[in-house]
Amino acid sequence: MNKQTILVVEDDTSVKNLITTTLKASGYKYVTASNGTTAIIEASSHNPDIVLLDLGLPDMDGIEVINKIRSWSLMPIIVISARSEDNDKIAALDAGADDYLTKPFSVEELLARLRVTIRRLSMMNTDASVNNSVFENGALRVDYAAGCVYVNDAELHLTPIEYKLLCLLCQNVGKVLTHTLITQKIWGSSWDNDIASLRVFMATLRKKLEKADNSAQYIQTHIGVGYRMIKV
Ligand code: CA
Repeated sequence: MNKQTILVVEDDTSVKNLITTTLKASGYKYVTASNGTTAIIEASSHNPDIVLLDLGLPDMDGIEVINKIRSWSLMPIIVISARSEDNDKIAALDAGADDYLTKPFSVEELLARLRVTIRRLSMMNTDASVNNSVFENGALRVDYAAGCVYVNDAELHLTPIEYKLLCLLCQNVGKVLTHTLITQKIWGSSWDNDIASLRVFMATLRKKLEKADNSAQYIQTHIGVGYRMIKV
C-alpha cells in the first residue's frame, strides 16, 4: 500500500476533488491548499513526499511557490498547468519543478507521474544511505561511523542527546523537522516537557556550533513548527 503524503495545491474545486478522489482510491494520503500562502505553510509543516501544484493560483504565481519551497526543500514538485500557461510551465521547470501535467489530464496519467516520481525518490534515498557515512555541510563534518563531529577540522564535544539531535537534522538537511517528530525520534514521546527539553538542548547545540564557526548559521528555528538544518 502507498503511504506517501501528497500536497495538492489547486484553487479549482472540481479539479481538486478529482485529484483527491483519485489519490484516496489509490491509497495515498493527502493534504490540500487552495492558494499559494497556504501551500507554503502546508509544505513546511507537513513535509509532504510530493507536491502537485497548479500554476494559476488566486494569491500568487505558482512559480513563486516553487521558489519558496526550493529555498529550503528538494521535495518533488509536479506542476499542473492549463494549455494557456505553456510559458509558465517552462519557467516552472527552470525554477525547480520536477515534472508537469497539462490540463485536462487523465487520472491514469496523474497516477503514472506519481509512480515515476516515487521511484526516483526511493532510488535517491537508497543512494543517500549507502554513500553518506560522512556528512559535510560547510565547515561542519559528521562522521556517523566514528560518532564524531568536526567544525573546521576541530572536534566538537557534544552530549549524547546533542549528537542525536544534530544527526537527525543532518540526515534531513534542508527539511523542516517538527517539534513532535524530533521529540518522538529522540525521546520516543512528545509531551510538553519533552518539547521544553528540546528547546534547551537545541540552544546548547547551537551555541557550540556558533562558538566553533560564527560565519555560518546551521540550524534555523521555525517558530511554532520546528527546526531545520540549512545547507550552507
Ligand atoms: Ca487555477
